[in-house]
Amino acid sequence: MSKEKLQTKISELGEFGLIERLTKKIQLKNRSSVKGVGDDAAILDYGNKQIVVSTDLLTEGIHFNLMYVPLKHLGYKSVIVNLSDICAMNASPKQITVSIAVSGKFSVESMDELYSGIHLACEKYGVDLVGGDTTSSMTGLTICITVLGEVDKGKAVLRSGAKPNDLLCVTGDLGGAYMGLQLLERENEVFKVNNTIQPQLEGYDYILERQLKPEARADIVAAFEKIGLKPTSMIDISDGLSSEIIHLCKNSGVGCNLYEDKIPLDFQTKKMAEELNINPLVAALNGGEDYELLFTVSLEDYAKIKNDPDFTIIGHMTEAAEGTNLITTGGSVIPLVAQGWNHGK
Ligand code: ADP
Ligand code: MG
Repeated sequence: MSKEKLQTKISELGEFGLIERLTKKIQLKNRSSVKGVGDDAAILDYGNKQIVVSTDLLTEGIHFNLMYVPLKHLGYKSVIVNLSDICAMNASPKQITVSIAVSGKFSVESMDELYSGIHLACEKYGVDLVGGDTTSSMTGLTICITVLGEVDKGKAVLRSGAKPNDLLCVTGDLGGAYMGLQLLERENEVFKVNNTIQPQLEGYDYILERQLKPEARADIVAAFEKIGLKPTSMIDISDGLSSEIIHLCKNSGVGCNLYEDKIPLDFQTKKMAEELNINPLVAALNGGEDYELLFTVSLEDYAKIKNDPDFTIIGHMTEAAEGTNLITTGGSVIPLVAQGWNHGK
């Protein structure tokens, strides 16, 4: 018998299992730490305003492929994924720090390109770049961004506030970023075999933009303020609708019925899915990277959202015992499954 300690593969736990294991013993010591691990961002209290903080790490070969992602777009998107987490707290992003680890294969000019995208996102969202760190890496590029935002006391929306009978809503449309990625990967494969063939990307500008240049829904946070709506819970869609619904349900201690025929899909998403023989529903449920907001509202607030084309009601929350279910167009009830660890697969 070996005396070595048992080593468990990280893949056995998965992303969420690993985070839970590494963070379960944390006890917050400071009164200013209102909400720690477990939401889209942490909440810190320093007076009338609360500060929200979130960090994301992007690694070459796992989160992005520089064969078909231009560095400027990468810079832009790296900022957006962070801003999205702040929006998911119903807060406004204000500052970011950017840390990079770069290998010798990158030139100064390529870093200029990366930063032109970072600056563009900062400009568009009114965010200040206030610091970071730079180091060398053995292989490839790693980008770590931390974002700070602010929210009035009492206005932050957590993953944990959904109640049975609340309406489940989503902004925009889903699955586009995933179908955009499938298209880029297909064309990249063709290019690897024959680099004289031009990529066939016409007619798919929307899904390509969804993948390469996503936006954070800061406009929705502003719209909530304008119509006087505070969702009961909220999360951004980074890992796919299924996984995010399960997070909301777990954190809120409720169940959910999601209706297949209500899930908003764009025409190009459906067209690409048909071309590649993929069910567009799978792209919406498990694809991720749409960076739309998924939120719940109490029934009394129905009138505030019903006429806004940006919001789609896709289901309602139930008692926890009923589970988290997809109700298909045919009326079948199928339990939702979380994917997670998406990028690493
Ligand atoms: P999101 O998809 O919104 O970025 P994650 O699933 O990455 O959220 O993280 C969920 C929660 O776990 C967040 O509160 C995040 O701060 C926390 N978290 C993730 N990784 C770690 C880690 N290595 N150590 C401590 N906390 C972590
Ligand atoms: Mg998030």
